Amino acid sequence: MSVRKVSLAYDGAVVAEVPETPVTELPQILQRGEAAARVMADMSRDERASILFRASQRMLDAKPDLARTIALESGKPIREARVEVDRAAATLWFSGEEAHRLAGEEVPMDAAANGKGRVGYTIRQPLGMVAAITPFNFPLNLSMHKVGPAIAAGNSILHKPASTTPLSALHAASILVASGLPKDALQVLVGSGAELGEALVAADGIRLISFTGSGPVGRGLLAKAGMKRVTLELGSNSAVLVLEDADLDQAVAACVAGAFSNSGQSCISVQRVYVAQPLHAQFIERFVELTRKLRIANPLEEDCDISSLINEQEAQRVQAWAGEAVREGATLVTGGGRNMATLQPTVLASVKPASKLNREEAFGPVVGINSFQSLDEAITLANDSRFGLQAGVFTQNLKAAWRCAQEITAGGVMINDVSNYRVDQMPYGGWKESGLGKEGPRYAMEEMTALKLVSWRLSR
Ligand code: NAP
Repeated sequence: MSVRKVSLAYDGAVVAEVPETPVTELPQILQRGEAAARVMADMSRDERASILFRASQRMLDAKPDLARTIALESGKPIREARVEVDRAAATLWFSGEEAHRLAGEEVPMDAAANGKGRVGYTIRQPLGMVAAITPFNFPLNLSMHKVGPAIAAGNSILHKPASTTPLSALHAASILVASGLPKDALQVLVGSGAELGEALVAADGIRLISFTGSGPVGRGLLAKAGMKRVTLELGSNSAVLVLEDADLDQAVAACVAGAFSNSGQSCISVQRVYVAQPLHAQFIERFVELTRKLRIANPLEEDCDISSLINEQEAQRVQAWAGEAVREGATLVTGGGRNMATLQPTVLASVKPASKLNREEAFGPVVGINSFQSLDEAITLANDSRFGLQAGVFTQNLKAAWRCAQEITAGGVMINDVSNYRVDQMPYGGWKESGLGKEGPRYAMEEMTALKLVSWRLSR
């Protein structure tokens, strides 16, 4: 059996070895998953909810271990890793609540001339066996955003975590089993996306693929999924607008956290900040002051703010994009240096519209701060992207906030907050090339259930 080494990119230390799932085992895995789907479908809503509530509590009990695991496998600073555990436990809890609420609705059949004497309603039934493919950057919570709703909806699930970060997913699965999840209702498959992931996408019997990851992989998967349902949570290059009347301290602090938490490796990271011209210089000055206070360290150190990216190639890529933007006319305000996989928090001003750093997803600790002259221009700049996951707007002006909320082309607009504000029960998912379908337990469960209409003809 082959073994996958999991290591911490900050110093290259190997932190665990995990047996890989051979692709040749897939037929048996699928068989077990189908049998478990029948068991899950027979469970009551309350039985499924109870498992999720128990698992949520056990996850909180295991927080020190789980947080350490997340920090070691992904390089996430330990304080942020603890927040991720809290959020993952909440995601399971919200999934349990939604299991209780899962329901169809009455259809007013006799509103149609030929509906007289009929009663109709919809019910939501489990799809059967579903598959989840997840990324490295929130290895626990993004996994629970698929596992929780799949269980709540009465499905079995096959989960392939990112091959760099399988440990927290394995730990979560053991928590769910200890909480009463039927055998094989969740099977975690460890292996590479290019081999095991591709095989899953092509496999028969899977009703839905729920994918979170990069655009190119998501698009490739969509082309190969055949008649399976597919949900895609992909990347972005999120914009934040800071209008002239914004609370500057609030906006600066939120944007620094939004740009550099998880070392910028978040799909809703603040990447493009547009500041009203009269505030631009002052905003940059305060932004840089806070940025320079961020401490680069081993992710297990309590006061670590910034640590390594997932690997050195990624750090090289992000650094190169910053260098390219400077050659194309941007100003490097602070940062830009790199030590192996760890990149300094990097701030650029006047990034040219055509620069990669402006057009593509950076997915690292780098942010561009530009200025605008009018609200029309600000909204146009925010929307000048093929992505559209979330955006933020700082202003005290109701009319301006309303316009931004209405006109920004993204799946979520956060007023007086940054693009990466998220609570785990809200609908979450991108427009344009940022994805298809929504997450948040209630919304994911809509994707993970089949809607059936039942009509009764009443005889008198
Ligand atoms: P990735 O390279 O696309 O990988 C995501 C998952 O897909 C991993 O499990 C990966 O396995 C697997 N995979 C790779 N190639 C595959 C293939 N050909 N067929 C099936 N599966 C395959 O993404 P990542 O680098 O882990 O994560 C970063 C990306 O995720 C960013 O673009 C970010 O914006 C996006 N993201 C989006 C959201 C959201 O909610 N919208 C949230 C977080 C992250 P391996 O690890 O073995 O390659």
